[in-house]
Amino acid sequence: MGQMAELENTASRKVRLYIFIDALGWELAERYHFCADFLPCRYDVVTQLGYSAGAVPTILTGKTPPEHGHFSFFYYDPHHSPFRFLKYLPSFLLPDIIFSRHRIRHHISKVLKKVLGYTGYFQLYRVPFRHLPYLNYSEKRDMFIPGGMDGVPNLADAWQGRSYHISDWRKPGMFNFQEAEELLKRGSFECAFIYDAALDGFLHRHIGEPEAVRAELKHYEERMRRLYETAVACYDEVEFCVLSDHGMTPLTCSLDLRPVLGKYRWGRDYISFVDSTMARFWWIRPELKEELRAAVASAGHGHWLSEQEQERYHVNFPDHRYGDDIYLLDAGVQFAPSDMGGMALPGMHGFSPDDKDSDACFLSNRKPVVEPFWIGDYFRIMTAP
Ligand SMILES: [Zn+2]
Repeated sequence: MGQMAELENTASRKVRLYIFIDALGWELAERYHFCADFLPCRYDVVTQLGYSAGAVPTILTGKTPPEHGHFSFFYYDPHHSPFRFLKYLPSFLLPDIIFSRHRIRHHISKVLKKVLGYTGYFQLYRVPFRHLPYLNYSEKRDMFIPGGMDGVPNLADAWQGRSYHISDWRKPGMFNFQEAEELLKRGSFECAFIYDAALDGFLHRHIGEPEAVRAELKHYEERMRRLYETAVACYDEVEFCVLSDHGMTPLTCSLDLRPVLGKYRWGRDYISFVDSTMARFWWIRPELKEELRAAVASAGHGHWLSEQEQERYHVNFPDHRYGDDIYLLDAGVQFAPSDMGGMALPGMHGFSPDDKDSDACFLSNRKPVVEPFWIGDYFRIMTAP
């Protein structure tokens, strides 16, 4: 019985599937004709400047970072820093040489996450121990559940009243695809947001290996095809969309800011947070601002974002929470070391949204209710009546 009974149960019903594949950029989707035979409506979508920390909340709310409050994981906030208590730990307990080891930091991150009661994604990366008491963390809560976005309605809020499924972002993408397929057969939902972050990790390491990328995308395509065919077999009407947050840019060279900042004192003259592709600064001694800006600019390979750019890229926070000024690297260049890692990776994202390799994609079996131009536009498609 199984299948037939299920098919009857779901007769004349409609299903909407939104499959989020982190880092499936427009360039790759087109180069490898990803799912082109069954997803013919294809859109080249402008990303949100930053990383998943800013892009995912943008997708989940349809709002800009100044509106939903998320841009990068860490920001300067000494008075409310959840890590303030670390100031009182003697530094010999955790010298940088030990603290900077990946496995140790991973364990400390897990313990801190538990102690602080965070339900979102939490990782200390390579932030120096002595910097932590000055910093706050944006993703304290699980953004995928109802009420997860501090007053801004998210996808789960917007889908209340419908039968929906949002996969667990902590689970591997392949698990989430499998789970969605089983739920589809049972007719358990009208709409679903299915999450995969594994391709991002793969492309960070292998973007420079065309054959490996081709094989991995083939594998994803087969999974998508199975999911699509299952949906078509079980439902009368299917809206099937694959969407992403950004692309992946191959490494060209790396940049170390330490030599140009060497004579200035972190915490006294300035505060910085060095993401992989942008360095954000807060000017503690405003009289040094121009000198520091000139020192950083002398390292080349990037530029200070103008006010117009900050506005255009939706990172113009009135309270300068994420930096008084932002130095953005040219596409392909990575900070190494940064506060996110010691070494540059073969691929990175977080470059100018104007660069072609930064573009996200929206691929669908039918024309969406609005044509997505920027990744925040997905929200209107996903929440349309
Ligand atoms: Zn990534």
